[in-house]
Amino acid sequence: MMKTVRIDIATLFPEMCDVVLSESIVGMAKSKGIIEVHTHNIRDYAKGCYRKVDDYPYGGGFGMLLLAEPIYQCIRSIKDSLAGVSAIVLYMSPKGERLTQRKVFELARVPNIIILAGHYEGVDQRVLDLVVDEEISVGDYVLTGGELPALTLVDAISRCLPGVLSDEECYINESHSNNMLEYPQYTRPEVWRGLRVPRVLLSGDHAGIQSWQEEAALKITKEKRPDLLGEMEKMVNKKGG
Ligand code: SAM
Repeated sequence: MMKTVRIDIATLFPEMCDVVLSESIVGMAKSKGIIEVHTHNIRDYAKGCYRKVDDYPYGGGFGMLLLAEPIYQCIRSIKDSLAGVSAIVLYMSPKGERLTQRKVFELARVPNIIILAGHYEGVDQRVLDLVVDEEISVGDYVLTGGELPALTLVDAISRCLPGVLSDEECYINESHSNNMLEYPQYTRPEVWRGLRVPRVLLSGDHAGIQSWQEEAALKITKEKRPDLLGEMEKMVNKKGG
């Protein structure tokens, strides 16, 4: 029996996540029971009638920081609900490891993931030191909050879980799966505004199509992301040596 992957997101904006998570491929993966995603409002774990979740940074500086204690309590409550099953805690952060398809494949094999989405100017470092296993960045730029990065990660993980896409080939030959970009693709009509689909794709010659696709993928990778080919060479040399 296929085991459901469970992801919990700790955030100040659970509704923002719920809307996205109920749509498209992730929504379908949820309804098929392939993935379970729970969102938790960090504010529910804050004390006092104002349920304060942020405060000024010591030492001065711009903006507010999320308090350590509500985040700690939120993560603890999620862990308690897992009834002894261990989970990896990820903090979405511009300071983290940049997300790659390789990392997504690695995380798709983890059965329980807790994602912390920060907000404002970030999070009190002490709770990060205490509860977070890894920090993940979605790119070298800064967003307002960790919700979009968390959703990006959930989306990327969902689509490579068995049973989500109709055919595993869908992601095996996709951009970034093998440090290559995908070859260009075409659909009907054969001629659109005078532009023709490459003839080989209409030939029915499977070997010819495959070799065209491989060459086109290599060409497009060389043109747009030559750095990926460098990465692949490094990997091959590492294996060889
Ligand atoms: N002051 C922080 C810094 O300079 O590193 C940036 C804080 S950012 C405005 C607020 C929150 O958005 C962060 O706590 C993080 O959760 C999220 N965030 C922003 N950019 C991100 C990125 N590139 N990848 C992942 N999370 C990001």
